[in-house]
Amino acid sequence: MIEIISIGDELLNGSTLNTNAKYLASQIFDMGYHVAHMTTLPDDDDILFAGIEKALSRSKIVITTGGLGPTLDDKTEEIVTKLLPDGLKKLDNTIGSASGLLFEDQGLIVLPGVPREMEAMWQSVQPYVKERLASEILTYHKKITLCHLPELSVDPTLRELKKTLPAIDFGIYPSYGTLIVRMSALKPDVLEKATDVITAKFSTQVMALCACKAEEALHTLLIEEKKTLSFAESCTGGSLASRITALADASTYFLGSVVSYSNSAKEQILGVSKQTLETHGAVSEEIAREMLEGVFEKFGSDYAISVTGIAGPSGGTKEKPVGTVWVALGKKGEKPHIGLVPKTKSAHKRETIIEITATFVLSSLWRLIKYGIPPFEEDHD
Ligand code: AMP
Ligand code: MG
Repeated sequence: MIEIISIGDELLNGSTLNTNAKYLASQIFDMGYHVAHMTTLPDDDDILFAGIEKALSRSKIVITTGGLGPTLDDKTEEIVTKLLPDGLKKLDNTIGSASGLLFEDQGLIVLPGVPREMEAMWQSVQPYVKERLASEILTYHKKITLCHLPELSVDPTLRELKKTLPAIDFGIYPSYGTLIVRMSALKPDVLEKATDVITAKFSTQVMALCACKAEEALHTLLIEEKKTLSFAESCTGGSLASRITALADASTYFLGSVVSYSNSAKEQILGVSKQTLETHGAVSEEIAREMLEGVFEKFGSDYAISVTGIAGPSGGTKEKPVGTVWVALGKKGEKPHIGLVPKTKSAHKRETIIEITATFVLSSLWRLIKYGIPPFEEDHD
């Protein structure tokens, strides 16, 4: 059994997001082990002492992060050395100043709070963890990323699979346009059988046989195909460009994005017509089309995407409520695919509307290039 203890008042009062626990848990999961408890404790002597003592009494490995610095609120070293006076080994900090601590016989690993330092030290202590857990049974995992599928369309297939392959444990994790299916088993071969069934059933919606973001799938495909890409973004405000440029080597294919937020930018930079703006409004099928034409004109890329919508919370009308997002995408010189992004009207929150839109268009373009499948029903003439 492994457990993680995150230490720090800043985690409990909401000023710092506990990314260390997430990182360690996913690392341990991928190694095939099981995290049984995750606890967050304040910088308080008595609570830390009792919490770490309890964890050591039930778990083979206990990992703590935080509270190792030199300031008055950093108590972890003092408390663990009071609890375990002997057997301490220092762990080098190759990035920062606070050393970590390892108590080999008790299975206690004490890491710093700064994520980069914690991650480097965790890597160095992994051989010890594997050795200490050598007798544990390993679990194998496999993840599949699907797109444009609601979880209830995937669920029946997994239920059927569970009947024929009961040794597999399934999880479904939907996230705004993509969905990850996780499968876990004690033997890897059953995972391969289940993968075959899922890929056969959902063929053109299988983005990757791993956990993968829409932009990563598109990125890999554009590099393989040696094709270029550009965007014209209104309500996504550069979010598409930001997601693409977060990936190393995006420069191989990404030519740029015009963040044409105002009508004047749409007119002056993308050549959208004043008359179309006046007749149909900026959030319309016609403007999405003209923005796409404009961005092809400007960049000359092989593929392009344009987005124009109302992310809210203000600006909605009866005819065009918040969440109305028109997008156009396609290949240079070919008929564009234009439509409304599904599921944005019930999203309510601005950032959610932007995220759903970005994931939808990136995965739609991926599917169009990979399989020639258009994103909108009316596209199937
Ligand atoms: P500490 O080792 O407690 O002095 O923590 C140093 C810094 O690391 C804190 O100010 C936080 O910004 C960061 N930190 C501590 N614990 C965590 C955690 N669980 N997740 C993310 N950041 C953390
Ligand atoms: Mg602290």
